[in-house]
Amino acid sequence: MSIPALTDLSRCAVHTITTKPWSLRQCIDGYTAAGVGGITVWRQSLAPQGLADSAMMLADSGLKVVSLCRGGFFPAMDDAGRKAAVDDNRTAIDEAATIKAPLVVLVCGAIPGMPLQQARDQIAEGIAACVPYARERGVKLAIEPLHPQYAADRSAVSTMRQAREICDRVGSDYVGIAVDVYHLWWDQDLEQEIASAGKKNRLFAFHVCDWKVKQTDTLNDRGLMGEGCIDIRRIRGWVEAAGFTGFNEVEIFSEAHWARDQQEFMTDIAAAYKKHV
Ligand code: ZN
Repeated sequence: MSIPALTDLSRCAVHTITTKPWSLRQCIDGYTAAGVGGITVWRQSLAPQGLADSAMMLADSGLKVVSLCRGGFFPAMDDAGRKAAVDDNRTAIDEAATIKAPLVVLVCGAIPGMPLQQARDQIAEGIAACVPYARERGVKLAIEPLHPQYAADRSAVSTMRQAREICDRVGSDYVGIAVDVYHLWWDQDLEQEIASAGKKNRLFAFHVCDWKVKQTDTLNDRGLMGEGCIDIRRIRGWVEAAGFTGFNEVEIFSEAHWARDQQEFMTDIAAAYKKHV
């Protein structure tokens, strides 16, 4: 089955971290000028002008606010740490509600040395503790499995299956999964897990970038679509076959691209989106 290319950027959203040197104002103006339809806001983009001004700028922008990034980091060595994590996630839910983001993306966390299953138990408990508040504020929560290279300290959730198991444990229609091709492209069960998540209405977000074959940094050397080896369009086909109709979100952490003129980078993002997503 061949997946048709996307001919415009109306279903494209860009994460503010992708154009990290830009202020929220510059992101809004740059994305709008490029014809991008949506924006996912990282919390550090809110800080300089404050939440209220950010919310006003976004409301006036014409862009659809897709998600707030990010909450999570639930595991901790003691009760106080776990409670602080839940409190911070409630704050993220408040921020999302204020900027009219329907979703908070969760980087679930891990503690070096803590058994991964114990961390996953704490993640499930932390998410469950946030669900009543998320429901009250009308903000959903998306578990984003991260590539296993981050299992030591960023996410004990590395696969769709592990995310599914946590969704099953929490058992709320407010909890689903963010599929990021960078983290999940290698998983032999990916197509099947995407289909299963779609059936359970748990496909909440779809993130794209590329996996460069020779990465100089495990965090900040992600590729623009087409710079690496991921068949992004094939995975978009799986996500759409599973019923997902949301935004294709461009999320790229890259010192190399951040060092460039961001306007030129934006032009390249638009071209890469049409060619590779
Ligand atoms: Zn992502």
